[in-house]
Amino acid sequence: MTDPFPRPGLRSWLSSNGRLEFCITLASVTLLTGACVALILVPRNAGPLQLATDEAEVLGTSTAIDNPRLSSVRRDLQPYGPILVREVDASQALLVAHPSHRADLDVLEHQLPPAISDVSEVWGTDWNRAPVVVVAGSPAEFTALTRSAGTTAADVAAVSLTGSYTPGTQPTDQRVVFNPDARRRVGNEGLATLLRHELTHVATRADTADGAPLWILEGFAEYVAQRSQGSTFSQIAPTLTTRLRAGTLPTDFVVDADFTGVDAAYAYESAWSACAFLADRYGTATLTALYKQLATGPKSPAAQDAVFTDVLRASRAELLDGWRAWLRGHAV
Ligand SMILES: [Zn+2]
Repeated sequence: MTDPFPRPGLRSWLSSNGRLEFCITLASVTLLTGACVALILVPRNAGPLQLATDEAEVLGTSTAIDNPRLSSVRRDLQPYGPILVREVDASQALLVAHPSHRADLDVLEHQLPPAISDVSEVWGTDWNRAPVVVVAGSPAEFTALTRSAGTTAADVAAVSLTGSYTPGTQPTDQRVVFNPDARRRVGNEGLATLLRHELTHVATRADTADGAPLWILEGFAEYVAQRSQGSTFSQIAPTLTTRLRAGTLPTDFVVDADFTGVDAAYAYESAWSACAFLADRYGTATLTALYKQLATGPKSPAAQDAVFTDVLRASRAELLDGWRAWLRGHAV
């Protein structure tokens, strides 16, 4: 199937903005249509069960070898070779990679607990805070692990959801999958930001339905990812900054189509800035409440306006005026 989301704009943005090279979104039409890092359904029984029987192939594990979550990972990864597994004590999250990516595992082991904490600080703790985080060993493996999303070797990370999933329930077996080159491409700080972005998609999954506006899905994830990272406005949003300095202000929140074309970089940055403004003006709790109202499914502009009135007691025009004033104050 042709990749429905050519992303030249995003790719070039990622290249020029190494800190923020983050998830590529790959919409699973059955889940978050068009979402960056749509949560991808990987059928549990996509093929014959081929568990490696040699337990020695699981190296350095600190978790029980019969951990059912580990069994699922072993099934999918061991065809590609021996795996290292670490259980992060504080969260029971599982980190998995092949021995060739041991250094990535070391970095992620330190990054995961504070990333989970940062996401929970905004979203609360009512989510599966024990995700499985996998570093693919090769582009082929990355593509295989995220196959439903139509990822390519150029993509950096994705979230997949293994097993069946009932909308509205808490998914319990989600994976964040990193491209084998992710850390080299984004650096350790970029990886930490990327991890938060992806974990936000994991956390919000039960409250996120197909077709919800991407500006809130992606903007919220990136807001959560960035809020504790200390980057400046222009570092987070270089394309937006350039436009603002040229005197071009947004006329509206970005629409879903903007996330897939040559302007994708701008779309992600604009969405982040809208959420950063809303958090600044109304607080993160209200931004989170807004997310939960907007993410329930497709929303026409009129439907979004009704949510704005309900949650923020503000009209779209008032919000846009406030956002533009906020942008003028930040893009200096
Ligand atoms: Zn995303």
